[in-house]
Amino acid sequence: MDIPSSKKILGYQLIEKGIITKEQLWEAIRVQTKTGEKLGRILIKLGFASEADIEQLAGDRKESLKNIEQVAKDDQDYSTQDYEAMSLKEETMASDAPVIRLVNSIFIQAIEEKASDIHFEPNARGIRVRFRIDGMLRQKMQLPRKDMGAVISRIKIMSAMDIAEKRLPQDGRIQLILERREIDLRVSTLPTVYGEKVVARLLDRSDITAYTLKQIGFSEKNLNLFKKLLCNSHGMVLLTGPTGSGKTTTMYAALNQLNDLEKNIVTVEDPVEYLLEGINQTQVNYKAGMTFAAGLRSILRQDPDIIMVGEIRDKETARIAIRAANTGHLVLSTMHTNDAIGAITCLLDMGAESFLVAASVLGVVAQRLVRVICLHCKEDYYLETDAPERRFINVSQTEVVKLYRGKGCDKCGYTGYSGRLPIHEVLVVNSGLRQLIVKNAAADELREKAVGCGLVSLKQDGIEKALQGLTTLQEVMRVTYSED
Ligand SMILES: [Zn+2]
Repeated sequence: MDIPSSKKILGYQLIEKGIITKEQLWEAIRVQTKTGEKLGRILIKLGFASEADIEQLAGDRKESLKNIEQVAKDDQDYSTQDYEAMSLKEETMASDAPVIRLVNSIFIQAIEEKASDIHFEPNARGIRVRFRIDGMLRQKMQLPRKDMGAVISRIKIMSAMDIAEKRLPQDGRIQLILERREIDLRVSTLPTVYGEKVVARLLDRSDITAYTLKQIGFSEKNLNLFKKLLCNSHGMVLLTGPTGSGKTTTMYAALNQLNDLEKNIVTVEDPVEYLLEGINQTQVNYKAGMTFAAGLRSILRQDPDIIMVGEIRDKETARIAIRAANTGHLVLSTMHTNDAIGAITCLLDMGAESFLVAASVLGVVAQRLVRVICLHCKEDYYLETDAPERRFINVSQTEVVKLYRGKGCDKCGYTGYSGRLPIHEVLVVNSGLRQLIVKNAAADELREKAVGCGLVSLKQDGIEKALQGLTTLQEVMRVTYSED
């Protein structure tokens, strides 16, 4: 395990105590990268902290180390029935520095390993900590039962949750800075039989806000089709795929592409995940009655050019979005369907008039994420003559097929993969399809027509990326399985 250097923790704790600001920490880290001096020294030199502040912090840590050992001894015999009584002790323990250090070090490790989520899962022995990396959970550590209360409380304090409330689920947010990167954590708790399970989703803003469409990983053909769709001044462009298929990233890259001084771009999101400069972002708030539909209605009175609706999942939102697209606005949104055609049939199922759907939908992009083969342990191989994969990629037994895979190495945690890449299906609604949509044609008929017009299916795009050595055929089969 990579133990984080004390400098990150020191800076973070000083911010927490209100001694320095985020900006001051950044400034000091910038100096540090040039001079290599100790961070504490630099903070003193720059006048951000006094010698006494730094010394006291070091002293606090030693003191609290003693305390926590004592409290930990008292707590060794906790059983599951004791949760209710633990609150005060937990609070005390949570304010002790070793807990802070432990929790912070887990966050830092997760960020460094590019995890998307951290799971803290209470069980009979304590807390299991797992990271989701490239879409898969990996067990990282098992924390002893004695640390459980303090760790969970610590995270709840950081997320501004009610630490005494343990029987109801809660949501919260943490902002972290690590080496000039701002990272948002969306935290939620869920009471389980062994205690509260905590899941923290990591949102690295610095990564996504600068994303361009080129960086998304479209094939050249699909990229051109998608860019053309976005050039329209009115109509609807939909992104579809299951949760965790990278739709948000693609959506933000599209907004970046469209963002310019002459257009009014307004969004209604649930929630606003990343802040984009020059774009008017609003957030749904169900308690206050600000739904997607209500947000959309008010946006239409705000002289918009381009509207992004986080998701179309109900009849009302679908109706207003279609009307907006038909009255001179470019509307972008996401849906939860298996493929591109599915988005069209889903709109019809929601009760949208077929002629309105045909008139408004310009195109649909379906997306999935596949894991990328680790560059450090990549090897090629030839498909066996009797391999079942031949049927999947539709080649005969005699054809030579060269493919790639990762052997597994310490760089990729012996998984053979590092990072992820999307595969796409870009459906452009042309006049032929429009006529079929108006006639309420079945999904199969629509799909057949689209393929006839040159649609590259998700599966086909995936197979091409596997043949290029970007991913494995197994990955493509895994994420497109529902289709065959
Ligand atoms: Zn590797």
